[in-house]
Amino acid sequence: MKQIDWSSLGFKYMDTDCHIRYTWKNGSWDSGELVKEPYLSMHIAASCLHYGQAAFEGMKAFRCADGKVRVFRPQENAFRLATTSRRICMPVVPEALFLDALSRVIKANEEYIPPYGTGGSLYLRPLLIGTGAQIGVAPGQEYTFIVLVVPVGPYYKGGLQPVRAVIYDEFDRAAPLGVGHVKVGGNYAASLFAHEKAKHEGYPVELYLDAKEHKYVEEFATSNFIGIKNQTYVTPESPSILPSVTNKTLKQIAADIGLKVEVRPVPFEELGSFSEIGACGTAVVVTPVCEIRRGETVLRIGSDTGCGPVLQKLYERVQSIQYGEVPDQHGWCWEV
Ligand SMILES: *Cc1c(COP(=O)(O)O)cnc(C)c1O
Repeated sequence: MKQIDWSSLGFKYMDTDCHIRYTWKNGSWDSGELVKEPYLSMHIAASCLHYGQAAFEGMKAFRCADGKVRVFRPQENAFRLATTSRRICMPVVPEALFLDALSRVIKANEEYIPPYGTGGSLYLRPLLIGTGAQIGVAPGQEYTFIVLVVPVGPYYKGGLQPVRAVIYDEFDRAAPLGVGHVKVGGNYAASLFAHEKAKHEGYPVELYLDAKEHKYVEEFATSNFIGIKNQTYVTPESPSILPSVTNKTLKQIAADIGLKVEVRPVPFEELGSFSEIGACGTAVVVTPVCEIRRGETVLRIGSDTGCGPVLQKLYERVQSIQYGEVPDQHGWCWEV
């Protein structure tokens, strides 16, 4: 075992033994190799640098109660990466290659997987970038697919902590027919300025409304929106929301525990009527939101000291499936 203080792990980069790297050239992927150094030498005219051909994914591998290592729903991430790749004219990474990459890089970094009981996991970050030289605007002729791994701790050590969110009418994240529904690096560049502003003003997350009318709730910068009221799980429907695997999972669990599930437009005016609001994504699973500010309007939701009962229950249920503590009835966990 590595000398790692598992209890002090947060969500930040740390070197591991290696990453895995594949190259696409002349129409096909090579067989990949494990690379020790966390550096990449690439052409100065690479299309990822100039024209933003860069996509990523994020998921986690868990050391389970039975000692085995399982990745949570990696086929969903392979599928989403393929959707992203097609949208920005990059070659698709076949699901079999994607899973092979995960398996090889996880095994090679086995000692970095936090032990069961620490609340940690191995965060897996696939990255697909155009690395061919390209000066005229066109898709590049060479691509690199990488999976790097980082051990991470439980995001919230003392239970789920509610956060305040802000809506800025002067910034949009994604246009209706743009690339909001795919996981491209550029979406993050587009939201960084507002994100830094929000942080500076005391809001850990910012919530976006639809770019066209600013009437409907879309999602937070890096996580989907969930609202709970009257035993109903509500999440917005829009062509510019990133389809979160966590949200898909929570919707299913919500239905399993007898909640009604609604996927539909959510007008801004409806926000005040939710008894619980949460932001969901792989890194944190669910972050309860206790306040939303938009200009002079301040909405308060639930308690500002703890998580509401429904989100708490959904959170516990997904974690217990991920750590193999309850039967995986939907076949979500993929054994490495
Ligand atoms: C990655 C991401 C999410 C969360 O997706 P998960 O699959 O649940 O991790 C939500 N919104 C945006 C914009 C994202 O990029």
